[in-house]
Amino acid sequence: MAGAFGFKGCQKIRGPQIRSLLEAKDFFLFDCDGVIWHGEKAITGAAKVVNALIRQGKNVVFVTNNCTRPRENYVHKFCRLGFTDVMLEQIFSSSYCSALYLRDVVKVRGQVFVIGCDGLRRELLEAGIPCVEEADDPDATIYNCALAPDVKAVLVGHDDKLTFLKLAKASCYLRDPDCLFLATDNDPWHPLSGGRILPGSGSLTAALEVASGRKATVIGKPSRFMFECISSQFRGVDPAQCLMVGDRLEVDMLFGSNCGLDTMLTLTGVSQIEEAQEYRNSDLSTNHSLVPDYVVDTIADFLPAFEELEEQSN
Ligand SMILES: [Mg+2]
Repeated sequence: MAGAFGFKGCQKIRGPQIRSLLEAKDFFLFDCDGVIWHGEKAITGAAKVVNALIRQGKNVVFVTNNCTRPRENYVHKFCRLGFTDVMLEQIFSSSYCSALYLRDVVKVRGQVFVIGCDGLRRELLEAGIPCVEEADDPDATIYNCALAPDVKAVLVGHDDKLTFLKLAKASCYLRDPDCLFLATDNDPWHPLSGGRILPGSGSLTAALEVASGRKATVIGKPSRFMFECISSQFRGVDPAQCLMVGDRLEVDMLFGSNCGLDTMLTLTGVSQIEEAQEYRNSDLSTNHSLVPDYVVDTIADFLPAFEELEEQSN
């Protein structure tokens, strides 16, 4: 989709252009990590931007592929980092949306085998979806362990306690063609400080895809499902009035494109503007879906526009 200025592709905007965009849009979707915070540290000015948007009556939601914590924990984190007006209803995590998918879309009957952190399991249990309880038996192996008889879905997310046994059990469950294969997201890796990285859910899912010969259904970005969850919970969401703000081309910008939203890349996270320009100049037309409409250095670049708007209304 062409941006509000009739120009598609990596337009670095500031000052008056940001102001026009803020006036033109009434629904803002923000990725979290790399856009509004890095781990436990808020990006300078991000809280002011989010608080000002909410104060101005804009709709603000957060769409994150991070499935490690339940939504309540996000509310506490937002508050702790100075985002004082964020409510539970504004948070759409891949774990929450996975629970909605299992409960409302496929209406799963039976247990779910989860590869993931406690936060993911808690989100499912809150939605009334039973998960297979894993006994903590150090002697268990795939040769002698029990397998639950009624597993109707395998859900893969970020799991920092992944074991070979868990992978083996999931592979066994996936031999049943009636057992669904879902992934919270397909993120390949996540940045840590000091140049280190963590393998993401996508790398764990890839292992199971090879073992099972099946393809997982991805719930999180860039799949459209998270936008469907938002549309079902907020009345009258018009894609033309939305702006998706993220730091990852292959996840956030593609998600925006898939959902027909204008997109903005912030340069405080994973992707660089040069990569966006490469996609823009690529002969492969599918790469053009990864190109942001707009680019800012940081969402703190919104602040001068708010000051002007607020002066105007005084
Ligand atoms: Mg991010």
